[in-house]
Amino acid sequence: MTTLTKGMELFFENAVQMQESGDDATQAISMTKYFCSEQLQRVVEIAVRVVGGRAYFEFEPVSRYYREAPFCLFAGGTVEIQKMLIARTLSI
Ligand SMILES: Cc1cc2nc3c(=O)[nH]c(=O)nc-3n(C[C@H](O)[C@H](O)[C@H](O)COP(=O)(O)OP(=O)(O)OC[C@H]3O[C@@H](n4cnc5c(N)ncnc54)[C@H](O)[C@@H]3O)c2cc1C
Repeated sequence: MTTLTKGMELFFENAVQMQESGDDATQAISMTKYFCSEQLQRVVEIAVRVVGGRAYFEFEPVSRYYREAPFCLFAGGTVEIQKMLIARTLSI
């Protein structure tokens, strides 16, 4: 979970740097949104495995993460749309 979270942070920091440099940050931002949205699912899935049955009860914070993590797959530009934006930046 820490490794995946670190990967997300690195994507995010790179996208911020690209944006602040004034270069076209479309690819970096879309890759960040795509990568982080997907990795979040994995991190939350592991969290559910760690807490077990408690993940189904509202007093357990993981229950909210489990319910809301899939939202990141489509809110603010779906994963599929991010992939299309990335593809457009490739010179192939
Ligand atoms: C609780 C909630 C809060 C929200 N808040 C906001 C907000 O504050 N501001 C805001 O702007 N929006 C908000 N939204 C809307 C959200 O951004 C949209 O749900 C999102 O843009 C996806 O649009 P859609 O749900 O109409 O899905 P659709 O566009 O119908 O897409 C359905 C599926 O088809 C895929 N798809 C669509 N077109 C293509 C294509 N051409 N190629 C390949 N795959 C494709 C999508 O990736 C998705 O998986 C919110 C949604 C919810 C549920």
